[in-house]
Amino acid sequence: MKPEILIPVPIMQRVADALEDSYTVHRLDKADDRAGLLASVAPGVRGVATMGVADAALMDALPGLEIISSFGVGYDGVDVAHAAGKGIVVTNTPDVLNDEVANTAIMLLLAVSRKLVLYDRYVRDGRWVAEGSPPLTQAIRNTRIGILGLGRIGQDIARKLEMFGCTVAYHGRRKQDDQPYEYFADLVGMARSCDTVIAICPGGEATRGIVNRSVLDALGPNGTFINIARGSVHDEPALVAALQEGTLGFAGLDVFADEPSVPEELFAMDNVVLQPHQGSATVQTRNDMADLVVNNLDAHFAGKPVLTPVTE
Ligand code: NAP
Repeated sequence: MKPEILIPVPIMQRVADALEDSYTVHRLDKADDRAGLLASVAPGVRGVATMGVADAALMDALPGLEIISSFGVGYDGVDVAHAAGKGIVVTNTPDVLNDEVANTAIMLLLAVSRKLVLYDRYVRDGRWVAEGSPPLTQAIRNTRIGILGLGRIGQDIARKLEMFGCTVAYHGRRKQDDQPYEYFADLVGMARSCDTVIAICPGGEATRGIVNRSVLDALGPNGTFINIARGSVHDEPALVAALQEGTLGFAGLDVFADEPSVPEELFAMDNVVLQPHQGSATVQTRNDMADLVVNNLDAHFAGKPVLTPVTE
């Protein structure tokens, strides 16, 4: 008997294709009658393959659920406490995306500082011909960058920034003695001492709104905020207001509080670069993440330890 896997929300086709051979797959995401399908298959389901979301109600609806294999490293949309209480294993896809997400963070920083998007428009609008060269931009070398969350991805960003000639500091809940960068226990203090803050910590309640007006004001009118973490990490109305009022200079944003909705005020701002949550979104990296989702399920159903369980 093949183990039964439920796919509750749309997931990369590569995952569904890979599961077809070894599992009986139920596509709740494609069902017209979600409740009906869930009720009929629930007793047999032993695994869930999902895109960063699984709530307590779904877990409670699946009495034989053993494992939730989630696509993506962030699992703030999975109720891991509830899963732990029920003895359900939860896995995510760390490490395989570090390089890509770090590149996206630095791409945003360079795009903001060198006005990449603005000057692309300058050429297309014929302004280079009509007005000549636009104003000079800002180098990132010799700037000081504060990383909020010096974890797997944060450390990759830090190493790359050093190659760009930047100085790195970091904030987290604890000092990491094996890291060569200056530690700030106080996020506002770090922002005050830095030209740029890059957020790359987990989302969820513990970090909700920690990049607040005080942090943005501490960065100041020449400062840059890059968010590649989760939209919940910044206080979005405060961020929009700080940019509008010029108390914060610049922002590069990959993530937003209510995706895919983005505050329209940001659309008109030349000092902001926006991305539709593209941190890990290359074919190569997403393929690696998809394979890890499947490999975790395969390990579990082969009776082996899963490859990448979440710490909780
Ligand atoms: P990780 O290795 O677990 O690192 C997370 C870091 O955040 C740690 O250094 C941790 O340090 C710090 N942190 C955790 N809770 C904190 C808190 N309450 N306050 C301050 N710092 C805190 O995770 P990762 O693999 O680098 O991934 C980080 C996050 O990036 C993910 O959770 C995900 O949300 C996001 N992400 C976004 C994209 C995208 O597409 N934009 C792609 C991948 C990942 P301490 O333990 O010392 O506090």
